[in-house]
Amino acid sequence: LKPLKEVDEEIYELIQQEKKRQVCGIELIASENFVSKAVLESVGSCLTNKYSEGQVGHRYYGGNEVIDKIEKICMDRALKCFKLDPEEWGVNVQPYSGSPANFAVYTALLKPHDRFMGLDLPSGGHLTHGYHTLSKKVSATSHFFESFPYRVNNEGLIDYDELEKDAVRFYPKIIVCGASAYPRDWDYERLRKIADKCRAWLMCDMAHISGLIAKGEQNNPFEYCDIVTTTTHKTLRGPRSGMIFFKKNVEKKTQSNKLKQYNLQQRIDFAIFPQLQGGPHNNVIASVAVALKEVMSDDFKKYVIQVRKNVKALAEKMQELGYKFVTNGSDNHLLLWDLKPQKLTGSKMQRVFDKVSITVNMNTLHGDRSALSPSGIRLGTPAMTTRGLVEKDFEQVAIFIDRTIKISLKIQEKSGRKLRDFIKQLDKPNEELEELKKDV
Ligand code: PLP
Repeated sequence: LKPLKEVDEEIYELIQQEKKRQVCGIELIASENFVSKAVLESVGSCLTNKYSEGQVGHRYYGGNEVIDKIEKICMDRALKCFKLDPEEWGVNVQPYSGSPANFAVYTALLKPHDRFMGLDLPSGGHLTHGYHTLSKKVSATSHFFESFPYRVNNEGLIDYDELEKDAVRFYPKIIVCGASAYPRDWDYERLRKIADKCRAWLMCDMAHISGLIAKGEQNNPFEYCDIVTTTTHKTLRGPRSGMIFFKKNVEKKTQSNKLKQYNLQQRIDFAIFPQLQGGPHNNVIASVAVALKEVMSDDFKKYVIQVRKNVKALAEKMQELGYKFVTNGSDNHLLLWDLKPQKLTGSKMQRVFDKVSITVNMNTLHGDRSALSPSGIRLGTPAMTTRGLVEKDFEQVAIFIDRTIKISLKIQEKSGRKLRDFIKQLDKPNEELEELKKDV
């Protein structure tokens, strides 16, 4: 067996380039992280060679003795990690990622064109929470089902009162909580009450905060929700994959007020296979198992606490430097930075930050008209905390960020050219930029 470098030098070189970018830059994308060597090793293992359609002990292919053991370990660890009783809760670890996990839940519980509610994308929700615009059904989850959004209020907080008013009118079959860009914790108790009022399922997509929830650093959605989905590659620090946790047997009133027993295990497993997916990615499942073992360690508790301390340090330093955050801060691992006071857009600044090796992503803020030119940037601390940064380092990151903004503002003011045109030239040596840098 020849090594990659010999077989395909082109791809090998590109991987080296990406590795350099990851190692040399400051990674502030809130949904990203750096996995351990053990996690990487298991993703790149021979398990990728195996087909194993079906569930543990019931496969459509031979030769799955080892694969069964691995998937069972992964499932057991997933339940243990979130302190769930295996009598009450089950888990499916086969979803290829977060989006397929969410779609599998809808497939399991809804008929085509049934209704559900999720947080609107410009309010911080994910595409798979039913996103559509007035004119376009953007996500397949709004194409196949009727989705109705709830939103944040002017302070950037979930408007539970409005959600309740809309829910009792719209009568969704599922209410989805959880977000991609929400800096505050969730009131699951209130959400449960709202869901019960319209006899809806309560589903939490904890993708962003699952690492924090596992270590008791956020409210616990399992106390109130029927179903909880997650990605495994964000704060959970595993490979790219997804999991669905479900209450195994639920007795619940239907919307026509009949008491019904639901076997969620059967529904979810069937939705994943054969309805939506084929063979599980066994290498990834093994790697999720490894990541979950790491999550259960004391070191991971320290890590998660540091992630939150770092967010606080970054926010405080940037606030001291005059910047503004939606809700004025964060309860979790991310900040939503409002660039309107600087009269800059998230889209332009994302490109400028790329040029100085600070990786961020633009983000729509409540009230933004365009997702292509939003006024916010999302900042997260999970990745750089894994790299060992502590509070004082994040204060320095805040200073780098401030310097980048100040140079960008100078370009706007002084150069007489649009920032956009200026960015295009940044790859070449640039005297004008060197002059501007001296002033900042
Ligand atoms: N759910 C939430 C809340 C997310 O933020 C994301 C991705 O960012 C997903 C689901 C989708 O995950 P994936 O990109 O793995 O499909």
